[in-house]
Amino acid sequence: MQIKVFKFGGASVKDAEGFRNVGRILQKFRSDKIVVVVSAMGKTTNALEEVIKSYYAQDGKTSALLDQIKNSHLALVQQLFPVTSEILDDINDILVEIEWVLEEVPHEDYDYTYDQIVSIGELLSSKILAHYLYHLEINSQWIDVRDVILTDNTYRDAKVIWDVTQKNASQKMLSLLSNVNHLVTQGFIGCTSENFTTTLGREGSDYTAAILSYCLDAESMHIWKDVPGVLTGDPRIFDEVIMMPRLSYKEAIEMTYYGAKVIHPKTIKPIQNKQIPLYVRPFLNPDSEGTIISDEKELSYPPVVVIEPDQTLLHISTNDFSFVAEHHLSMIFTLLAKYRLKVNMMRNTAISFSVCVNNIPDRIKKFEKELGMEFKMITDNDLELVTIRHYNEEILKDMKKNKLILFEEKLSDTVQMVVRNIPKMKRKEINT
Ligand code: ADP
Ligand code: ASP
Ligand code: MG
Repeated sequence: MQIKVFKFGGASVKDAEGFRNVGRILQKFRSDKIVVVVSAMGKTTNALEEVIKSYYAQDGKTSALLDQIKNSHLALVQQLFPVTSEILDDINDILVEIEWVLEEVPHEDYDYTYDQIVSIGELLSSKILAHYLYHLEINSQWIDVRDVILTDNTYRDAKVIWDVTQKNASQKMLSLLSNVNHLVTQGFIGCTSENFTTTLGREGSDYTAAILSYCLDAESMHIWKDVPGVLTGDPRIFDEVIMMPRLSYKEAIEMTYYGAKVIHPKTIKPIQNKQIPLYVRPFLNPDSEGTIISDEKELSYPPVVVIEPDQTLLHISTNDFSFVAEHHLSMIFTLLAKYRLKVNMMRNTAISFSVCVNNIPDRIKKFEKELGMEFKMITDNDLELVTIRHYNEEILKDMKKNKLILFEEKLSDTVQMVVRNIPKMKRKEINT
């Protein structure tokens, strides 16, 4: 069976017009076999994170915050459907379970509770989409992805158990697809063997689509975005970006590894392993193919810039002036792995080792504590990591303007810099 996997992100399904557009796109493909993966609407996941924070702080604002989420979904439903009773039942069923959790004393495992609550964003949006497709008389069915994607219990960063997931996908999804054309399911979430909900990490719906593409041997995967395709830089930061019509898997994995926010970094491996082409295409212009990511080898690229904000440099040195030797490095790396601090750049000198990591204060604090008395650690905050692939002198000069360069590393095709933005100083007007 030839299956396509489509993923619609929160930026696409942010309002009623977004859902209508998904409907229009799927109508164009109504006779194809498609697994539709959908994220939570707009910024719902962020809003649910606020609910969880408030619940743990027991600040009395939790139900008001949940009500806002409920109301935005109800308002959407009113705009989408002439008769709303069945979808309202589904929305209430999903919310009631969370309301029960929120009435209890918070569970000691924050990450576990986070996943049980934050996952409702995708349950709500996928139910709404499934009802909407039914309303459009598109031959489709809703399926709970937690019956397919089995994970371990690393809450908020769950690892897929591939053999079981593969078996579930073939048994459950393929048999449903022999009766209906489209399956609507959730991105971002999975399930443990004990039936607890897990999440795959923020922005993980792209990864869900890749997992399902891999397990179903999809003919192609399509990520529908609010941009024309993969661009040479983040259009929210840069003006003169251009769309790259073709990318190799290797280029895509490099860009996402360095932090390009256009696709989740774990997305490429599963689809590369099965040589499935990935289309990153414009949600508002469905006739365009956007960017095709495949096994191309001989492509040349314009300069591509990736900015990772909110970086911290950790300068670790020995207290007694002894060299930072291999056994120290081995211990430092073990702790970096333990506290899931990804090494974005590093440098070693005689008595110090510096490493650039994403600024995640609670993990950095625990890391520092466990380093112990033998070491001293100084941190440098408010930094950016700038990566330029396929650089030339002009773009380097441009990117260095008004920046203090703390680290720089130049390879043949990539330059990386850890920088601090220098505030622009304006001379005062002097009244004489
Ligand atoms: P979705 O909800 O569909 O997952 P996101 O907001 O997570 O959408 O991601 C889409 C955004 O990624 C775009 O609006 C764009 O601002 C940003 N982006 C960052 N880097 C790039 C890039 N190199 N090419 C295209 N978009 C990029
Ligand atoms: N809704 C989740 C998030 O905002 C997953 C996703 O959008 O990919 O992180
Ligand atoms: Mg996203």
